[in-house]
Amino acid sequence: MLGGIEAGGTKFVCLVGTGPEDVRDEARFPTTSPGETLDHVVSFFARHPGLEALGVGSFGPLDLDPASPTYGHITATPKKGWAQVDLRGLLGRALGVAVTLDTDVNAAVLGEHRWGAARGVDDALYLTVGTGIGGGALVSGKPVHGLVHPEMGHVRIPRDPEDRFPGVCPFHGDCLEGLASGPAIERRWGRRGEELPADHPAWEVLARDLALGIVGFVCTLSPRLIIIGGGVAQPSLLPRVRAHVERLLNGYVRAPGIVAPGLGARSGVLGALVLAEMGMPPPAG
Ligand code: ZN
Repeated sequence: MLGGIEAGGTKFVCLVGTGPEDVRDEARFPTTSPGETLDHVVSFFARHPGLEALGVGSFGPLDLDPASPTYGHITATPKKGWAQVDLRGLLGRALGVAVTLDTDVNAAVLGEHRWGAARGVDDALYLTVGTGIGGGALVSGKPVHGLVHPEMGHVRIPRDPEDRFPGVCPFHGDCLEGLASGPAIERRWGRRGEELPADHPAWEVLARDLALGIVGFVCTLSPRLIIIGGGVAQPSLLPRVRAHVERLLNGYVRAPGIVAPGLGARSGVLGALVLAEMGMPPPAG
């Protein structure tokens, strides 16, 4: 039996089971202080003595370098109290199981690859557009790490010279996340994305900005499929994004499929079960 956590900036989703057809228990806790939040999480998993391994898909940035002294820590997050928290170590010591940590979006693409829209697709990208923007990439079936891990939400995109919106990213201002995340939409248009009608000009601006980011990812990572999830990604957005991606690629390379998550809002927490499995010791014999 495996445990999965999707550690988000607003809530932690915890799940025990082996996959979408076998969820034994599930709970969510608001993300408050690290101490309080992790107490809730540990109590939840401690109720399941058969737990063999835990996977965590977390907001970041994260230190994912096994050779680093701060391996498994959250690093430079602006989220109050969470910078330098040893997420992997604290959970592993409290629960006595192997903990495999990756980004929330790498977990999501692993979940979609195992059970969702990317089944059978080893080169895929999961992009979340919500409170922030993040991308998880599978290349030849493996999640991409590297120097840190991809931070696709923080790429710069060409600006419309008429557009004076400064963006909302505390680090970069008008990076992709600064221009196209939920908080950016709210700041730019004075209303939350959920409250904007489908014919509001905001959607076309958003689709163009996302597509400018996406063509960069298509040209560097060459994904066969792009899954767009997150609270801002309503169904009417996807056709607009597809149209802009095709226009921008201009026939030079084929546009990949752009689809909604097959697992709905659970790609990340189910993908955390795939991470848990990766941390399991190989079967004896
Ligand atoms: Zn940024």
